[in-house]
Amino acid sequence: MLYIKKSTDDVEMKMDLYEDEIFSSCPICGKEHEVQPDELAHIIQSGDDFSGTSIFCNGCLYHD
Ligand SMILES: [Zn+2]
Repeated sequence: MLYIKKSTDDVEMKMDLYEDEIFSSCPICGKEHEVQPDELAHIIQSGDDFSGTSIFCNGCLYHD
Protein backbone atom coordinates (compact mmCIF):
# COMPACT_ATOMS: atom_id res chain seq x y z
CA MET A 1 0.00 0.00 0.00
CA LEU A 2 1.19 3.45 -0.88
CA TYR A 3 0.29 6.46 1.16
CA ILE A 4 1.26 9.96 2.04
CA LYS A 5 1.50 11.37 5.52
CA LYS A 6 -1.21 13.94 5.38
CA SER A 7 -4.93 13.90 5.04
CA THR A 8 -6.35 14.64 1.64
CA ASP A 9 -9.45 13.94 -0.33
CA ASP A 10 -9.67 11.56 -3.24
CA VAL A 11 -9.79 14.28 -5.86
CA GLU A 12 -6.47 15.79 -4.85
CA MET A 13 -4.77 12.50 -4.11
CA LYS A 14 -3.05 12.05 -7.46
CA MET A 15 -1.64 15.55 -7.47
CA ASP A 16 -0.39 15.25 -3.94
CA LEU A 17 1.27 11.94 -4.61
CA TYR A 18 3.62 13.64 -7.00
CA GLU A 19 4.33 16.54 -4.73
CA ASP A 20 4.84 14.92 -1.36
CA GLU A 21 6.96 12.22 0.06
CA ILE A 22 5.34 8.87 -0.55
CA PHE A 23 5.66 5.94 1.80
CA SER A 24 5.06 2.25 1.59
CA SER A 25 5.26 -0.58 4.06
CA CYS A 26 7.52 -3.41 3.01
CA PRO A 27 5.43 -6.59 2.51
CA ILE A 28 8.19 -8.73 4.00
CA CYS A 29 9.46 -6.94 7.09
CA GLY A 30 6.77 -4.30 7.42
CA LYS A 31 9.31 -1.51 7.58
CA GLU A 32 8.07 1.87 6.45
CA HIS A 33 10.19 3.45 3.78
CA GLU A 34 10.01 6.31 1.33
CA VAL A 35 9.11 5.57 -2.28
CA GLN A 36 11.21 7.31 -4.88
CA PRO A 37 9.44 9.18 -7.70
CA ASP A 38 10.98 6.96 -10.36
CA GLU A 39 9.65 3.87 -8.60
CA LEU A 40 6.24 5.43 -8.46
CA ALA A 41 6.35 6.31 -12.15
CA HIS A 42 7.26 2.72 -12.96
CA ILE A 43 4.26 1.41 -11.05
CA ILE A 44 1.92 3.80 -12.81
CA GLN A 45 3.32 2.96 -16.24
CA SER A 46 3.03 -0.77 -15.61
CA GLY A 47 -0.67 -0.34 -14.89
CA ASP A 48 -0.58 -2.05 -11.52
CA ASP A 49 -3.28 -1.36 -8.98
CA PHE A 50 -1.87 1.67 -7.31
CA SER A 51 -3.38 1.28 -3.86
CA GLY A 52 -2.69 -2.44 -3.86
CA THR A 53 0.98 -2.10 -4.63
CA SER A 54 3.60 -2.78 -2.02
CA ILE A 55 7.21 -1.89 -2.51
CA PHE A 56 10.02 -3.81 -0.85
CA CYS A 57 12.47 -1.91 1.29
CA ASN A 58 16.08 -1.93 0.13
CA GLY A 59 16.98 -4.49 2.76
CA CYS A 60 14.51 -7.03 1.43
CA LEU A 61 14.78 -6.04 -2.22
CA TYR A 62 18.45 -6.92 -2.40
CA HIS A 63 18.31 -9.88 -0.07
CA ASP A 64 17.70 -12.90 -2.27
ZN1 LIG B 1 11.70 -5.14 4.10
